Amino acid sequence: MAYLEFKSEDQVTKYIREQELATSQKFVILNKDKSFGQKDAQPLEGKKLSWENKSIPLFSGVPFQIVGTKTYECHQGKDRKTRAKEKYAAEVKKKALEEHAIVKRRKLLVNTKKVDCKAMINIAHVIRFPDFKVNESTVRSKTEASRTLKKTLSEMPSSVRSEVVYCVRFPTLSEHSSHPVVGEEAYVRETVDVRVKEKIEQLTLSGVRKVTEIKRNLNFFIEEELFHGEQPPPHSRRRYYPTDSDIRNVMFKTKTTRESVVQHKHSSSGQQGGGPERTSVPLTEGCVVHAGPGTPLPNLSSSRSNLTSIETRFVLPSRKKLPRVRQYWNIAGVISFVYYDIRPGQ
Ligand SMILES: [Zn+2]
Repeated sequence: MAYLEFKSEDQVTKYIREQELATSQKFVILNKDKSFGQKDAQPLEGKKLSWENKSIPLFSGVPFQIVGTKTYECHQGKDRKTRAKEKYAAEVKKKALEEHAIVKRRKLLVNTKKVDCKAMINIAHVIRFPDFKVNESTVRSKTEASRTLKKTLSEMPSSVRSEVVYCVRFPTLSEHSSHPVVGEEAYVRETVDVRVKEKIEQLTLSGVRKVTEIKRNLNFFIEEELFHGEQPPPHSRRRYYPTDSDIRNVMFKTKTTRESVVQHKHSSSGQQGGGPERTSVPLTEGCVVHAGPGTPLPNLSSSRSNLTSIETRFVLPSRKKLPRVRQYWNIAGVISFVYYDIRPGQ
């Protein structure tokens, strides 16, 4: 366990990202209070004072008020979607029996990634009061300090010196259970880095068709751009050096989505009576989400009701909304899921 302190939420996020890149750890947000990260948080007279917390396991003697907390868990933690997956598997089976339809789906409907790993990151956004530090962790000294602090906060709040800190309890590598986080064994289980994925998409869209050619370009990208002036990571790290099948998957998804966008462009220009060929989506940047062999593309529809169908393509007003939508689709167990940035008139 490591205990760390940061001045801002951004610094915390950056630290976690650096740790993930340096090892094969990956964390996902488990929960976050609404007030966590609130920029204008102030000490409050009536608010509870604390001396210890999950994120601050060591007693320092300095009292604090908690603005909010945030927890990350290992991406190989508890599987929270088993019921949704089972439901989806049953629906697919039923549909196939009823319609004799060939439904594209994941080979593995039961996710094998989750191994119930218990490693977690606990973060507390706190306001602490260094001038009210106590030397001993006794009920008496804490009660006295609390009383004085509350009194001062109510009578002369401006005289109370306070500091905002993000306290982080970061797990050690040994806290990960049932899966490796370092070394070759961990490297092969890594997911491909999002920047590497984007590079493959870009290359595919620019017309590169050979995996060897993509790989050559990726090596250059890793060594000359991502790790410029630094020691590049070992070739066994799948995060940076994806396998041939990782590359083929990204290429396939990119091409499939492009086709659906092209089809859509054709159908919308047809509807407009042969007007200028441009998508009817009024956005400067957006993405088409393609989820299986689809029905015609509805215009700008990202409502939740659409997300319950497995045969829908829809357009999102911005790429920022993608993670949320992706989450819903993941719950439904859909895998044919890709996006493609489009601009009007392209
Ligand atoms: Zn883990």
